[in-house]
Amino acid sequence: MKNEKSNHYHKVLLLLLLSNFFLSIACKQSTKNLRQDIANEVKQSSKDTISIAIQPLTFSDTSTLNWIKQNIENYYHFNVSILPEIAIPKHAFYKPRNRYRADTIIRFLKNYKPNQFQYIVGFTDKDISTTKEKFPDFGIMGLGFVPGPSCVVSTFRLKTTDKKLLKERIAKVVLHEIGHNLGLPHCKNHCFMHAADASIKQVDSEPLDMCDDCKMRLKKRNGILNEILYKMKK
Ligand SMILES: [Zn+2]
Ligand SMILES: [Zn+2]
Repeated sequence: MKNEKSNHYHKVLLLLLLSNFFLSIACKQSTKNLRQDIANEVKQSSKDTISIAIQPLTFSDTSTLNWIKQNIENYYHFNVSILPEIAIPKHAFYKPRNRYRADTIIRFLKNYKPNQFQYIVGFTDKDISTTKEKFPDFGIMGLGFVPGPSCVVSTFRLKTTDKKLLKERIAKVVLHEIGHNLGLPHCKNHCFMHAADASIKQVDSEPLDMCDDCKMRLKKRNGILNEILYKMKK
């Protein structure tokens, strides 16, 4: 009797484990399919425009994601797609400070990016960090290759109870990191490409625009960016 009971228990446990296993495969499959569908749509719709993907990393607030999409569309005139949310890469976790290494995340995104997109911007509310001069692990708001295909932005250091201000900060940091991807270094002018380090005051004092020097630098880079600049001026 005791044996039967335990056999029954094992069967139930096995069934539960199996159903969980299939459920997780199904989820992974649907994220993968959805990601591919979005990428295929981009391939068909945009031959002449730069395409960028927003990759939510353990982040599911669609109104913030749409706000970012809207800002990239308005400022850079890119084709913007929001990819299905994925977990922030575990291998980027930096245990001593309980945060994630931004350099590891942008390397991960570079490989994860579907080919149809030229750029990918990761977005999270987890704290992110990088090595900065004498600091081995320095908390940051965002990081992007100069130039390169990927960047990441975190809301962790942008927090405020003022919702309008929070939105402005998010837009500035996202456009700043994409500016790096487009080849722009930091700038000393009144411009969102100004180095912010960890200073939120600096971010707040910047305009939601880049200066003419930065726009000229973009112009020199290549023809497609010339086109962006042309649209920016309209
Ligand atoms: Zn920067
Ligand atoms: Zn500038």
